[in-house]
Amino acid sequence: MNDCIFCKIIAGEIPSAKVYEDDEVLMFKDIAPIAKIHILCVPKEHFAYLSELNAARAAWLGRTLKKIGKMKDELGLGDGYRLVINQGENAGQSVHHLHIHILGGETLPWGK
Ligand code: 5GP
Ligand code: ZN
Repeated sequence: MNDCIFCKIIAGEIPSAKVYEDDEVLMFKDIAPIAKIHILCVPKEHFAYLSELNAARAAWLGRTLKKIGKMKDELGLGDGYRLVINQGENAGQSVHHLHIHILGGETLPWGK
């Protein structure tokens, strides 16, 4: 059984505020936003870590980064945005399904 919370969101078993969806990606609002705009962008194919990229997943990532760039104005990110992928324990990764945090909508403080 797949206990992954993001797989359940993709399957529609857990509700989410969807922002964008196509056959390979889902974007939805983070439940605990740390910026005015805080969107999570996930692959529909489950994999846990950035360190698990293979050629197909790297290609997905490239297409997805392009997609986010193209959509920046409709997402309200025209004045700039930050993408974050937490990898593993030291980075505080709490959901083990790859996700890109998309942050923006305001001036973002820089920190580690
Ligand atoms: P991580 O710390 O793994 O990089 O980020 C996980 C993110 O998922 C957190 O920012 C957290 O707020 C968000 N999150 C966890 N559970 C849910 C949920 O059920 N729905 C939504 N929309 N976001 C969630
Ligand atoms: Zn998953």
